[in-house]
Amino acid sequence: MSEILKVKNLVKTFGGLTAVKDLSFTVKKGLITALIGPNGSGKTTTFNMISGHLKPTSGEIYFENTRIDTLPPYKIARLGVARTFQNLEIFGHLTVLENVLLAVNSRLKVFLWESVIRSPSFFKKEKEAREKALEYLRLFNLEDWAEKPAASLPFGLQRYLEIARALATCPHLLLLDEAASGLDAREKDLLKERIEAFKKEGVTILLVEHDMNLVMELADEVIVLDMGRKIAQGTPREIQRHPEVIAVYLGE
Ligand code: ADP
Repeated sequence: MSEILKVKNLVKTFGGLTAVKDLSFTVKKGLITALIGPNGSGKTTTFNMISGHLKPTSGEIYFENTRIDTLPPYKIARLGVARTFQNLEIFGHLTVLENVLLAVNSRLKVFLWESVIRSPSFFKKEKEAREKALEYLRLFNLEDWAEKPAASLPFGLQRYLEIARALATCPHLLLLDEAASGLDAREKDLLKERIEAFKKEGVTILLVEHDMNLVMELADEVIVLDMGRKIAQGTPREIQRHPEVIAVYLGE
């Protein structure tokens, strides 16, 4: 199976603290991979380096064979990497629909000049973009909220909106940072169902997740970090039996 992401000897230091230590792993195309580990083990720092929000101190990251650790976040996003954030980053003052439209428009390349001169191509693209955006909202039963400000959504639905927006960019790789955090059991079920559906459609998913039940049910592969180091990588079954992983989690 081919690799979509390759992380090689990644190091990140913050002053005297080494948050990520010589980390290497690959993510296989078409699978769901989970990055787990105790608090402070370097998961979010690793995510931030993959999406370009943090520059590695040393090491390399390749996405579909292109080196990306030297690129800014918008260029990495353009290559096909989308992400969500642990602390949501939606545009609260925009409507729910507008949040997703921004992502759709970036893909359909609706140019500012087209909206200024109001050309026929603009109206056609605008209609197409609206319909697409509504499709993404429907995935998470958000269509009735379309015209409401995003900030007015209940918390769980804001998480859904962020995922819908990330998906609207048609990513090859979707990075989900604690997507289930703060969701109730029913909301987690829909999230799980949707992540499985994205996989069926060919999206590769890398997730950081605390909910071990969700990880064990969803993930094809699990990578375990402890104090910035990778201590194990394997299937959920292998990981559950791994002595070092058990020791780390029992000691938490
Ligand atoms: P995790 O996501 O596994 O909880 P993080 O990647 O957030 O872990 O953090 C790993 C370590 O790096 C922690 O000790 C954390 O305090 C530290 N850290 C993370 N971001 C910064 C930062 N911007 N400045 C200083 N230290 C940081």
